[in-house]
Amino acid sequence: MAEHHENWLDLRSDTVTRPSAAMRAAMNAAEVGDDVYGDDPTVNRLQEYAADLFGYEDALFAPSGTQSNLLALLVHCGRGDEYLVGQEAHTYKYEGGGAAVLGSIQPQPIINQPDGSIALDDIAAYIKPDDFHFARTRLLALENTIGGRVLSLDTTGAATKLAHDKGLATHLDGARLCNAAVKLGVSPREALAGFDSASICLSKGLGAPVGSILCGTRPLIKEARRWRKMLGGGMRQAGMIAAGGLYALEHNIGRLADDHANAAYFAGELAKMKNIKVSTPQTNIFYVDIPAFVCQGLNDVLQLTRIRVSMAPRLRIVTHMDATRDDIDRAITVFGDFFG
Ligand SMILES: *Cc1c(COP(=O)(O)O)cnc(C)c1O
Repeated sequence: MAEHHENWLDLRSDTVTRPSAAMRAAMNAAEVGDDVYGDDPTVNRLQEYAADLFGYEDALFAPSGTQSNLLALLVHCGRGDEYLVGQEAHTYKYEGGGAAVLGSIQPQPIINQPDGSIALDDIAAYIKPDDFHFARTRLLALENTIGGRVLSLDTTGAATKLAHDKGLATHLDGARLCNAAVKLGVSPREALAGFDSASICLSKGLGAPVGSILCGTRPLIKEARRWRKMLGGGMRQAGMIAAGGLYALEHNIGRLADDHANAAYFAGELAKMKNIKVSTPQTNIFYVDIPAFVCQGLNDVLQLTRIRVSMAPRLRIVTHMDATRDDIDRAITVFGDFFG
């Protein structure tokens, strides 16, 4: 049974999940030490486990996905370098311009295709020649899943190959990489093929309260550890939270399929209603277009019935482990009563 908090059903994001009783027990029992000295056995265990699971030499526990992505950008790119990135990507649009502000790194945003990918021709065209007028193009940064859409192995394989052929490094913002892997029916490490580094969120659908993992080579992670300290991300007895992340990786990947099934079910029922246009979910996120004039009314009804969704800039619904099929059925009834 999912835990119910004041009976609110919160479908704004999969970041809202609370640690389960079993996860809390693991956190409570965690052995800890001072991780800035490298002495926290639970952090070390999480990093080793993640490196193995995701297919990298080494891994680093970071307090957030924003910081973990920033660490990667800071390691791959120096002052006056640039990274190619999707116009819709978190690492371009939703991280406060951190790479530019803190790293003097220029983003080169490129339009995302409707499937979330970046066209190979666009990648090739935006790589700058070696000329002092231009920033040095160093890195291709992709995102999977992106807006709930899954990039296929062919797509990520072709893009990373092109980048490498042109001498660029590759980074994946894999905040929801495990959702992508589950949807593709491959292991997380197969879904990460071709990426020199990857950031994976433990605090989204995997259900941990805090933290992300950066994966890469040993030298890359060594350098990232230096940047993490500089950014204030060196945490002491972090095993308390790392234990939640480790529990998440050990227990909560396979069950993401339930979230995907709930999203597909919810979207399918909404699609039958009047005045509503629903995107077909590939994973646990989908979007609903409704006429502007009903927005306030719907908002009021959702407030009264204790359901939270993201209303702006677009109505977005995200399923997760704290939203059961019964909860989804309740939401379907509320939407059905409103839209008919
Ligand atoms: C959530 C998210 C992040 C990181 O978010 P934090 O809140 O900083 O942990 C990065 N990329 C994507 C695609 C995300 O969804």
